[in-house]
Amino acid sequence: MTQQVAIVTGASRGIGATVARRLAADGFAVIVNYAGNAAAAAEVVADITAAGGQATAVQADVSDPAAARRLFDEAIRAYGRVDVLVNNAGVMPTNMPALVDTDDATFDRMFHINVKGSFNTMREAVKRLQAGGRIVNSSSSVVGLATPGYSAYAAAKAAIETMTNILAKELRGRQITVNAVAPGPTATDLFLDGKAPEVIERLAKAAPLERLGTPQDIAGVVSFLVGPDSAWVNGQTLRANGGII
Ligand code: NAP
Repeated sequence: MTQQVAIVTGASRGIGATVARRLAADGFAVIVNYAGNAAAAAEVVADITAAGGQATAVQADVSDPAAARRLFDEAIRAYGRVDVLVNNAGVMPTNMPALVDTDDATFDRMFHINVKGSFNTMREAVKRLQAGGRIVNSSSSVVGLATPGYSAYAAAKAAIETMTNILAKELRGRQITVNAVAPGPTATDLFLDGKAPEVIERLAKAAPLERLGTPQDIAGVVSFLVGPDSAWVNGQTLRANGGII
């Protein structure tokens, strides 16, 4: 059987690192992309290799179109093809002021990394993905929750949901699906950093399942969306949040 290849962006830490390990266990050769944390990416690659899988770390800031192109070049150089793009890389501000107090730098960063970053890699994926391939984007359940303080972050994620729908249609005839996963509060640096324990506790209890999501919860959904059982799911955003919305 041909070895299938997955690029996971932002795979050095958090959800992306767990997605990379899961897709390697599913049988993909995995490109472990990271922005700055080379040591953490190397650890993910070492774990995958020790478990008998194949992985290569590639540094690329996905918000830079040239770096996004290089990410695909290096994947093809390493493994000869790309079948799956998991657009997981993303950032969230540690403090969440109301829209009126959100500064220009925060707004620009949300759109530069979260929206332009996913746009850059999707554009490369359209040119380079194999027929039968999969694209999985990363939204957030906060798009539906409309939580005060999240205006710039949630707006960026809403843009990703819209691009997911449109790209699924633009890929007509290619047998490539495009979907998004929209986690609720998930126990990673991105969610935990800068939050008081009582805020974490309150958000953990908000879903009827009364806990935070884990990276494994989300990796299971991504595994489904890149696997054969989701062949008929296309252009959708799948919320994975314990029922918070
Ligand atoms: P995380 O623990 O902060 O990890 C973020 C990852 O993204 C790291 O690997 C980081 O690389 C990478 N990254 C950041 N900027 C990048 C860039 N410009 N280019 C390439 N890689 C970049 O975050 P997480 O919680 O796992 O979040 C993963 C995704 O899920 C994000 O899109 C986030 O918005 C979404 N999400 C998370 C939650 C949650 O509660 N955690 C909820 C909803 C949605 P370095 O290690 O090199 O910095």
